[in-house]
Amino acid sequence: MTTHEGESVARTAALASDLPSRPRLGAHDGATFVDSLADGREVWVEGKRVDVTTHPDFQPMLRTLAGLYDRQRSPELAHEMTFKSDLSGNPVSLSYLASASPEDLDRKWLNSRHWVEGSHGQISRIPDFMANVVVGLFDFRHALGEVDSTFAANAENYYLHCRENDLALTHGLGDPQVDRSLTPMQRPELGLKVVHRDDAGIVVRGAKQIATLAPYAHDVLIYLSPANYLREDPAYVCWFGARLDTPGLKILCRRSYNGPANTLGSRFDEQDAMLVFDDAFIPNERVFLLDDAGTAVKGFRALNRWSLYTGQIRFHHRLRVMLGVASLLAKSIGVDKFREVGAMLGELASYVSVVDLALKAITQDATATPSGLLAPGSTAALDSIAGQFSERASAIVRQIGASGLIMQPAEGDLESQELRRALDLYMGGRETSVEDKSRLFRLAGDLVIDRFGMRQELYEAWNRGDPVRVRSALYNTFADLPACEAAARTLADLLEHP
Ligand SMILES: Cc1cc2nc3c(=O)[nH]c(=O)nc-3n(C[C@H](O)[C@H](O)[C@H](O)COP(=O)(O)OP(=O)(O)OC[C@H]3O[C@@H](n4cnc5c(N)ncnc54)[C@H](O)[C@@H]3O)c2cc1C
Repeated sequence: MTTHEGESVARTAALASDLPSRPRLGAHDGATFVDSLADGREVWVEGKRVDVTTHPDFQPMLRTLAGLYDRQRSPELAHEMTFKSDLSGNPVSLSYLASASPEDLDRKWLNSRHWVEGSHGQISRIPDFMANVVVGLFDFRHALGEVDSTFAANAENYYLHCRENDLALTHGLGDPQVDRSLTPMQRPELGLKVVHRDDAGIVVRGAKQIATLAPYAHDVLIYLSPANYLREDPAYVCWFGARLDTPGLKILCRRSYNGPANTLGSRFDEQDAMLVFDDAFIPNERVFLLDDAGTAVKGFRALNRWSLYTGQIRFHHRLRVMLGVASLLAKSIGVDKFREVGAMLGELASYVSVVDLALKAITQDATATPSGLLAPGSTAALDSIAGQFSERASAIVRQIGASGLIMQPAEGDLESQELRRALDLYMGGRETSVEDKSRLFRLAGDLVIDRFGMRQELYEAWNRGDPVRVRSALYNTFADLPACEAAARTLADLLEHP
């Protein structure tokens, strides 16, 4: 161990004993994960304060998450989803690996694929996503240290704390959507703000819209999105990590999408929440940046370098599922050989292929960061186009499924002997039983017309930030642009002057 590493470990141990910290667990399995959420957090749903570990609306998703954590500790996958911590000797999640080599990146992405495949691409904020933001925070610590040396130490220690305890995180970047024509200077309650600071920490007031996975997460990481980081008043510039059972923090969940057992919402409703900080105290050790808008601007991209890549791994798998569904639908009603349908399926296959090729290329483009890690190349082009691919994928499934997306027998119909003849005659498919066809079409309906699928599509459109901003940022920073313009000029010069 180097002197630097030794100092860091000593500092971590000291800080961990200062803070109300959970015991170091290493990577969770399902049971330890569920137990860890029974901490008295203030979760609100439909106007009632609830306990996520027992409230019926949260149980299906809790079981899904528990299954994912069991997978990471299973004898078959543990070696591809965890690694041995040099700090504790415990197995810890590979999502938290701070990659320093191409081999590290390969191991990380294999782990991400296990998370994504285990959740069938239907949980957008599997814990793997935010763990990778924390890796970004760790990587950015030296820049934070230029603002205040304690911020760098805090970021490093927080990374170790999250890694060693396998914390699941949510994040809150945006201001509440109250009146976008005003700034927090004009209406102070629009932005989360530091209202008090002393030697022990800061007190924050305000809200963040929105935080996916919040009721199932351990901590929230607060930082600022490009829409919010240029603050006129430095009190609005603050990055911190907070436990979700922090006194004064309310988690206001949207209406649950939990439904009948045969719907996707009953298994994969990851929830989205408004986080309300009512004079919540954040200890100094969990504060990563204050006041400095310039560093917040630089930090946004830096923090998201690994998470945006792993988000695209998930998106790729989701597109593959959409292609599979579209193709099976087409076959089940005998339209797959029609030219127009084949062209739509080919279009969807092209999206799957483009994302796959881009993921490979972005890994090839990995670069060393100033702190000595190896980060994947930029996902900006994919981030700009993913929402459009997603919209088209849903439209294609709707176009192929047509009225079948709503006209399917219910479970009760399938059980009725009296209806059986009619169902077999009129509601089956081409070489497909009525049971198989209706299951397939109900899945498609969940994905492209029901609220679960509509929310997923909304997520694909907005989760990387406002797509208008994302696209214009790509244009404004496009490295190949001068060469593109030079090529255009060369061609223009071939033309005779008028
Ligand atoms: C399902 C889902 C899950 C999400 N999960 C998370 C999460 O876990 N954590 C998190 O931090 N965020 C999350 N987000 C939020 C996401 O980052 C935001 O949706 C996104 O940044 C856009 O902000 P907004 O939704 O407040 O839209 P708004 O900013 O209110 O925009 C509304 C409309 O006004 C336009 N508009 C707004 N401002 C301007 C302007 N100045 N000039 C011109 N037009 C403007 C926009 O283009 C848009 O058309 C999630 C979003 C969704 C949909």
